[in-house]
Amino acid sequence: MQKIDSKAYRPKVHQCQCPDCQQLGEHPSKILHAQLNLLLSRLDEQQRRWCVALEAKKLGHGGVKRLSQITGMDMNTIRRGRRELDQGLVERPIGRVRLTGGGRKPLEKNTHKNRAIPSLNGVTHRD
Ligand SMILES: [Zn+2]
Repeated sequence: MQKIDSKAYRPKVHQCQCPDCQQLGEHPSKILHAQLNLLLSRLDEQQRRWCVALEAKKLGHGGVKRLSQITGMDMNTIRRGRRELDQGLVERPIGRVRLTGGGRKPLEKNTHKNRAIPSLNGVTHRD
C-alpha cells in the first residue's frame, strides 16, 4: 500500500568487493556479506562504524582491510570504531542529543508564561 514512499526511504546498499564475492557461482560469504551491507544501510553512522569494527575484530589479522572491501568503509574509519569499542564507547554517551536540552532550569519558560497571561485575560473579557 505504501509503494510510493518505500522506494524513497530505501538507502543504497553497498555491493561487497571482497575476493569471495567476486567469484562466479555460489559462495557462503556472499549472503553474509550482502546481509551485513543491508544491515549497515539501516544503521546510523556511528552504529555502522562499531558494527564493522566488531566484524573486523572477529576476523583478526587483516580484518580491517577485508571489512573495508566488504563494506566500502574507509580503513581508518574502521580502526577508529575499533578504538571506540576498546574504550567502551566512553566518549559516545547514550542520548547525547537529549542531554544538552534536558535538566536546565526553566528560566525562559517562566518569562514566557508571564507574557501569556495578559493576552489570555484579554480574550476571556471580550463579550
Ligand atoms: Zn564479500
